[in-house]
Amino acid sequence: MTVIALACLAWAFAPPAVGAQAAAVTTVHEAGPADFFQYPLPTWQEHCLAFGSPWRLCDGTVLRRCSGSGAIWLHTGFDAVTGIAPVMAAGNGVIAGYTVDPTFKGGMLIRHVTAEGVILTQYWHVWPRPGFRVGTVVSRGQVFADVADMGSLTHLHFAVYRGDFTTATAWRGALPPAACDGFPAFPNRFIEPNGFVQSHMAPLPTPTPHRCHLP
Ligand SMILES: [Zn+2]
Repeated sequence: MTVIALACLAWAFAPPAVGAQAAAVTTVHEAGPADFFQYPLPTWQEHCLAFGSPWRLCDGTVLRRCSGSGAIWLHTGFDAVTGIAPVMAAGNGVIAGYTVDPTFKGGMLIRHVTAEGVILTQYWHVWPRPGFRVGTVVSRGQVFADVADMGSLTHLHFAVYRGDFTTATAWRGALPPAACDGFPAFPNRFIEPNGFVQSHMAPLPTPTPHRCHLP
């Protein structure tokens, strides 16, 4: 049994062929296609707001209304319960935006090229990790930020926008139910983020048979 185990270890740690190493080095500088997505946190529970919820704090305080109609704006993303924790990229992509809001802390956008076109994933209330800035390539599951401390309001906001980063609308955490005050109507290009992630999850890895070749 020990001999088999050692033989397996030797096989497992055998260096890859030179050609394989060269290929890995050249591809690391480009974002791979984002065919699969995942949630940005290891747990995914609703905080107070889902996609399309009236934009309120947990205590019911309305965050924004249309000035004329008084209509309450609608939430473009999903708010997840979390403490100050690492935030992972939902898919392979490139950091396309970073902004800081005095109330909502940091906002970040990641641009993903998928078979269905360009997708932006939006993260609010986060601070980027050192070395992660606009233009940085990230891979699915890579930690690029941490949830910002907002005291009792701390949570992660995650949204999915179908389209490229061409207008400031991609930054919005909420939009009016009907266009008002110069803002387009909800949902604009935002889509329900949990359904998107669930329909784009990587297939579970199939267990590979234990490959050991003894002489
Ligand atoms: Zn939110």
